[in-house]
Amino acid sequence: MNDFDPKTVRQRLETERNELLHDAEVSAEERDIVVLDQTSVGRLSRMDALQNQAIQVETERRREVELSRIDAALRRLDEDEYGYCVSCGEEIQSKRLDMDPATPVCVDCAHKAD
Ligand SMILES: [Zn+2]
Repeated sequence: MNDFDPKTVRQRLETERNELLHDAEVSAEERDIVVLDQTSVGRLSRMDALQNQAIQVETERRREVELSRIDAALRRLDEDEYGYCVSCGEEIQSKRLDMDPATPVCVDCAHKAD
């Protein structure tokens, strides 16, 4: 039996979620600034700006993946499904949940997916 505390897990997931949403807001503001600056920058820094933009897009994509993992974990908490592997239905090891509360699969299934 897993001995996680649903309240603690929920709190950790919600904290992480808020941080991700906050980061998203901050980088959206930064991106707007870059766009505004582009009229005054030279060719080289324009390339820098484009490169930065590509990095931001990638960061944002990862953030969205992470957010949907967290949302899914919160849903599983609501439905009392939390702590069970979505792939094989076995209990996920407490240590693994402690390291990554949003993980949807047990260690065996995670390795199989690699
Ligand atoms: Zn599994």
